Amino acid sequence: MAINSNKLSEICIIGGGIAGLTAAMWMKQHELAPLTWLFETNDKLGGLCKVGHWQDDKGFGTCEYGEHIFHTEDECIKDIFLALYPDAKVYEHITEIYVEGPKGKAYVPYPINLDTIDKLYEISGWSETAFNPKEYCGKKISLANLDPSTKQLCYRYIIEPYSRKQWGHYNFDTVLEDRIRVYLDRDNRTFRDRYQYVPDKMDYGNVRKSLKGVHIRCKTPMTYRDVLNDYIYCGSRNTLIINTSPIDAFYTDNLNKCILPYRTLKFKGGVDLNGTYKDRPMTVNYPDKNRAYTRVHNYGKDIVFEYPDECTRGDIPMYPIYEEGFSSETLFRTIQKNTDKQLHLEAHEDGFSQYYTDYIQKDDDTKVTILHVGRLGSYKYMNIDTTMYQVVHALDQLVEVN
Ligand SMILES: Cc1cc2nc3c(=O)[nH]c(=O)nc-3n(C[C@H](O)[C@H](O)[C@H](O)COP(=O)(O)OP(=O)(O)OC[C@H]3O[C@@H](n4cnc5c(N)ncnc54)[C@H](O)[C@@H]3O)c2cc1C
Repeated sequence: MAINSNKLSEICIIGGGIAGLTAAMWMKQHELAPLTWLFETNDKLGGLCKVGHWQDDKGFGTCEYGEHIFHTEDECIKDIFLALYPDAKVYEHITEIYVEGPKGKAYVPYPINLDTIDKLYEISGWSETAFNPKEYCGKKISLANLDPSTKQLCYRYIIEPYSRKQWGHYNFDTVLEDRIRVYLDRDNRTFRDRYQYVPDKMDYGNVRKSLKGVHIRCKTPMTYRDVLNDYIYCGSRNTLIINTSPIDAFYTDNLNKCILPYRTLKFKGGVDLNGTYKDRPMTVNYPDKNRAYTRVHNYGKDIVFEYPDECTRGDIPMYPIYEEGFSSETLFRTIQKNTDKQLHLEAHEDGFSQYYTDYIQKDDDTKVTILHVGRLGSYKYMNIDTTMYQVVHALDQLVEVN
């Protein structure tokens, strides 16, 4: 059901995070910018990646919700990122985890690598005999493929206590175990992708120049009701709505009313009075239960504590929580149960995740197509590059450009 771009009278993007900005860049690159409106509820663009008020010791901004590093293997996605952020800088991140055992305490690299494993054996006092890295061929394996003793060590000191704190409970999950990376080398970088960048001054909202031609409106929230008012009752024809706001709140017309379950994070600033973080990298994780925070963001001048929490009314939804057996049908049923609107939701695959479409038909000539993408529109945690890939893939499928 491709839409011919010649027949589109307007394009409305809801949300100015990475998903919305990628959609706007897609429109610009396909010369549809003059038709395109981008609405953002906040006064800054960038969404979860937006720049915060904390500063690092060079006076640079930092992301409001923890560091956001763009990393990808995909050359096309890298090119779109650089089209949005021509001043982006190559940047490689380091993350550590603080662990305590009967034989000592240590900051170890994360993701787990040979240095992490050596230190875990040392602080735990466990016998090292079971672990022989030479047994493994290849540099990267999943946690599931480690020998039982080393796997148990990683669970005991990192995975289990961290999950308990982050999610409020711990369920052993074989799918997750398969996805946890273990590197059998001593390279301490957080990400290994070929392309790794951050925008200048970490300001993901600084894109107005790159998106010249797109009409950007901040502090302008949009929901389904506004779509009806602006595009159906006012008689606009063949509009494309790209929704990157929470799909559940969108249909309830209440920005603070997410029906689906999420987990959130809270951030609190502090000062490193004792120099604890002087020699530490920018992100340090704390799986132990003695501290309420799971992470410290170390900006030299400022430090920021990150606390996981339940997501209640008004909180920023960060991580979708999937019950066992969750599917797109569950999502559609839950939304339909909470709205009196007639929905035509349909799921589509991009190879990594699902995204959704809907439409409103007023008469034979007037159709509004709604595309739900991004981490909130598709109710799926995704990294920046997978979010961008999803948006580009969905638009390539949906819009036939003339
Ligand atoms: C703590 C944390 C750290 C992360 N670190 C990394 C990292 O290092 N690297 C990485 O690749 N990924 C990282 N991610 C993932 C990354 O944040 C997401 O991939 C990305 O932010 C998704 O962008 P988005 O546009 O889909 O959503 P968002 O960034 O949430 O953007 C949605 C936008 O929509 C706006 N909005 C909401 N409702 C409305 C409305 N009704 N009308 C108008 N606007 C509305 C919001 O204000 C927001 O600006 C991290 C995620 C978290 C939670």
